[in-house]
Amino acid sequence: MRKNLEPLKQNIHCDVTIIGAGYTGIAAARRVGELSPNSDIVVLEASSIGEGNPGRNSGFLLEVALAHDVDKQNLARMQQCNQLIQQAMRSLRDDIERFKIDCGLFHSGTYRAAASATGSKSLERYKAFLDAAGLRCDTLDTADLSSRIGTRFYRKGIYSPHCYLAQPAALIRGLAERLPDNARMYENSPALGLERKSNCWLVKTPHGDVLAKKVILANNAFCKALGFGQERLVAMYTYAALTEPLDAFLLAQCGEDEQWGVLPAHRLGSTLRRTADGRLLIRSLYRYEKDCNASDVEPELRSALTRRFPQLANVPFAAVWGGATGFTFNAAPLWGELRPELYISAGCNGGGIVKGTLFGKLLAERTLGHDTVDVSSLFGTARYMPPDPLRKLGFSVIAAVERFRARAEV
Ligand SMILES: Cc1cc2nc3c(=O)[nH]c(=O)nc-3n(C[C@H](O)[C@H](O)[C@H](O)COP(=O)(O)OP(=O)(O)OC[C@H]3O[C@@H](n4cnc5c(N)ncnc54)[C@H](O)[C@@H]3O)c2cc1C
Repeated sequence: MRKNLEPLKQNIHCDVTIIGAGYTGIAAARRVGELSPNSDIVVLEASSIGEGNPGRNSGFLLEVALAHDVDKQNLARMQQCNQLIQQAMRSLRDDIERFKIDCGLFHSGTYRAAASATGSKSLERYKAFLDAAGLRCDTLDTADLSSRIGTRFYRKGIYSPHCYLAQPAALIRGLAERLPDNARMYENSPALGLERKSNCWLVKTPHGDVLAKKVILANNAFCKALGFGQERLVAMYTYAALTEPLDAFLLAQCGEDEQWGVLPAHRLGSTLRRTADGRLLIRSLYRYEKDCNASDVEPELRSALTRRFPQLANVPFAAVWGGATGFTFNAAPLWGELRPELYISAGCNGGGIVKGTLFGKLLAERTLGHDTVDVSSLFGTARYMPPDPLRKLGFSVIAAVERFRARAEV
């Protein structure tokens, strides 16, 4: 890959432009590069790789559908989705190994844990799905969880081996650096607008334009700023904090597992992770289309952590940050050809490291006219949402009800 340290500063042309170098965009660029080695590919990234959204997540690489994606009425379809997600995880693992990406990939599996009766019920439903799909999982009680992860906060849990943990900024940097030679990357070069010009697309950036035969929109929730997906997608901001490394005394109270990850029983609950270097990470809170200051969210993150680990009340946070996830009403992605030679994959609704990798690869195949899996027929199509202020009102009402249900899981 030819990496340009400078932003794009001239007008260029190419065969395929990919907007956004997250997991979706990088997977799309790699696949176009592999299938069409003579194509000239340009990747435009608004920030620096690893500094933006894709590097700011909690680093869970999930090999199975998330609980809110599960459709129990249609097990055969769900099994196909799971198989594709597992294939994408295998290809990520292969890339990490062959490119020697030092991102601390660790096969931890994952805990899903509930602190309330409502949460326990939803865990039971998820377990029924895993059982029906033939996917192994173990049921755990408070004492089991306490010995494995060190907290008695949860009343019930399930452990499933289908998850890896990694350092997300190192992962996305490593993947971006090893794109094929026919890809050029321009960081700090946000696409500002798109225009159809004589069978091509003109992509405007602050200091130069790209004239491309085909465009792939892989900038997730930010595609709305370019005029696409407004009626189907919202940006939900969620937040995380990472403690300073814990001393040996505190670490000994964080369970016997060397590294672990806990996902909540309710999607509005908190995610927890113990990292390889002996820190705890907590992710919580959702804000509709609103990026808050770290200082505004820190008290809530602190409270979520100390409810689980009161002994960590005085351990400082080394970092507090937030990022956007592309959210759709029915948790299905916006995927496929939007206009002639303009393609999109957006709205992973969480779990986007592996799902984004899958959807980006399949979209590249579709873009090049290959016969490929139709993501929409398997994962669904993002449903229409009315515009603001109705949408905001709807989200506020649903969020208030869901927050109430999830109150014990935060
Ligand atoms: C705090 C937090 C924790 C999370 N934890 C997890 C987790 O543990 N596991 C998991 O799988 N998912 C997690 N997620 C969700 C995950 O980060 C996303 O689903 C995933 O990053 C989606 O990948 P993507 O490539 O589709 O989009 P993004 O990661 O959003 O990437 C889009 C890229 O496009 C760029 N961009 C935006 N606008 C433009 C423009 N105009 N021009 C050029 N480039 C542009 C952005 O800078 C960004 O690099 C988490 C998210 C957050 C915020």
